[in-house]
Amino acid sequence: MKKVAIVGCGAYMDSGYGCPGEWRCLKAAAMGDHVFEDNSQVTAFIRCECPGRTTLPNLGMAMKLSETKPDVIHLSTCLVNAKPECPYIKAQDLAAMLESKTGIKVILGTHDYH
Ligand code: SF4
Repeated sequence: MKKVAIVGCGAYMDSGYGCPGEWRCLKAAAMGDHVFEDNSQVTAFIRCECPGRTTLPNLGMAMKLSETKPDVIHLSTCLVNAKPECPYIKAQDLAAMLESKTGIKVILGTHDYH
């Protein structure tokens, strides 16, 4: 089973309702739904915090403390499809930065639940 780390948009998590982090990303990973190709184990769930400077170190710390290197990193659907968009960084650029710094493939999105 694949191990995955998920990065969600903390700004949305603070003000959204019915999610994020409550079930959508977690269910999609567990069931292998939508963006996930197979049932996956979530080994880290990181909140991006504006302006995003702590995301990489927090991800690194989660991997270190959990002693688990994920096979894949997912940026959450709420982060990738944010409207209005994140004012600090495009999801594609955040993905490219995390991928180059960690050497782990980053996938845009997690689920299509409403
Ligand atoms: S920097 Fe962007 S992606 Fe990160 S929490 Fe703020 S709005 Fe969300």
